[in-house]
Amino acid sequence: MSNEKLQELARKHLWMHFTDMGYFQNNDIPIMSHGEGCYVYDVNGKKYLDGLSGLFASQLGHGQSEITDAMAKQGEQLAFFPIWNHAHPPAIELAAKLAELAPGDLNRIFFTSGGSEAVESAWKLIRQYYAEIGEHRRYKVISRNLAYHGTTMGALSINGLNDCRNMFEPLVPGTSYVGNTNAYRSHHMTEGMSSEEFAEKCAIEIEQAIIFQGPETVAAVFLEPVQNSGGCFVPPEGYFQKIRAICDKYKIMLVSDEVICAFGRLGYMFGCERFDYLPDIITCAKGLTSAYAPMGAMICREYLMEPFLKEDKSFNHGITFAGHPIACAAGLANLEIFEKEDILGNVRRNEPLFRELLEGLYDIPIVGDVRGAGYFFGIELVKDRATKETFNEEEAEEILFNFVSTRLVEAGLICRTDDRGEPVIQLSPPLIAGPDELTEIATTLRKVLTEAAKLVAKL
Ligand code: PLP
Repeated sequence: MSNEKLQELARKHLWMHFTDMGYFQNNDIPIMSHGEGCYVYDVNGKKYLDGLSGLFASQLGHGQSEITDAMAKQGEQLAFFPIWNHAHPPAIELAAKLAELAPGDLNRIFFTSGGSEAVESAWKLIRQYYAEIGEHRRYKVISRNLAYHGTTMGALSINGLNDCRNMFEPLVPGTSYVGNTNAYRSHHMTEGMSSEEFAEKCAIEIEQAIIFQGPETVAAVFLEPVQNSGGCFVPPEGYFQKIRAICDKYKIMLVSDEVICAFGRLGYMFGCERFDYLPDIITCAKGLTSAYAPMGAMICREYLMEPFLKEDKSFNHGITFAGHPIACAAGLANLEIFEKEDILGNVRRNEPLFRELLEGLYDIPIVGDVRGAGYFFGIELVKDRATKETFNEEEAEEILFNFVSTRLVEAGLICRTDDRGEPVIQLSPPLIAGPDELTEIATTLRKVLTEAAKLVAKL
């Protein structure tokens, strides 16, 4: 089909997600046609470095035929059967593999078809679990400002992002929010404060929220190891150990939402391993199949299943396509390549270079803060680095979206420009990227941000 025809049909029929469809009634829709390794190509043949791994998901990049072969083989063998009252070998094998890889006794795997469903399932499981053990009053959830946890009503309610939530009110009751770990801007962070002291302040805020809500009514705290939304907020030193201790003190579950941070994004199979804490549940998706098939999972500690191991008891929740055989085959092939090609080692070896390259951009006056871990970094842009003054709404629109975003795409780099907190550029390249691709990212950013800085100087 020609590009013109595709444009016409897309404008008429395709409803793109979180997308200003009005804009695309008069502008070309970027249409991607194929991918290879760290690169994708549009229908006009233009090549782009996929600096966002699609959407934090294509860990092994594009065109991995070992995964697609495994999916085809599974499709011929058994294309679909639900895991409701039945099982099939790929679901069993993938569950066992995840249990082997996950830390501690995180051994019980509940599959979903994506990240929102994993978060939704976690809240539902926690609520039913507490009801089963007679703690009927525990249902509330605490999460952090700006955090994104998905779009289904439960997951959406856990979001700390007003822009995503407000038009869908009334939401699921029982959620509240505390400050995130943005060391660059948090009101808790003062001149000369150590990372440990900052961690203490952030943790105290969580404990205060629990006490305010009534500890006997709080069921869980949902946190990402590195918070994506807002631009890669890393936890301060000892933060998760303090949160774990607070959760234990009040019998509250700690959910590590690793929809982005699992499967090597931070150089470890799971994000919680990087920061050395054991959550009660890990929610994950995206990189589980390197995005070759839609799939998510909730990985639970052993004790969570105990009430459900009695006869005549079940978790009253299920999803038709969860644990889909072809997705499981993709997941198994994906994790095999992780081991065979030492993907975690690649991220760990190259993280210092990636950081150094991005921190090298500090000589550009609009680069305010570079933060992140593994292959997951955010660059906060500012109007004035000395005062940390940020852009007003119109300036952010003009600089971040109209200029930086457009120029990066023209220069062949796909990444994300986001102003859900302060304006940031987010980077999350495929985990197979090496020094060449990381250098290409930094070189393109330097070119575009240098031009953007000249525009900002004229504001
Ligand atoms: N949780 C986190 C931390 C995420 O980053 C996302 C999506 O980016 C989700 C949940 C929702 O996942 P999905 O888009 O697969 O539903």
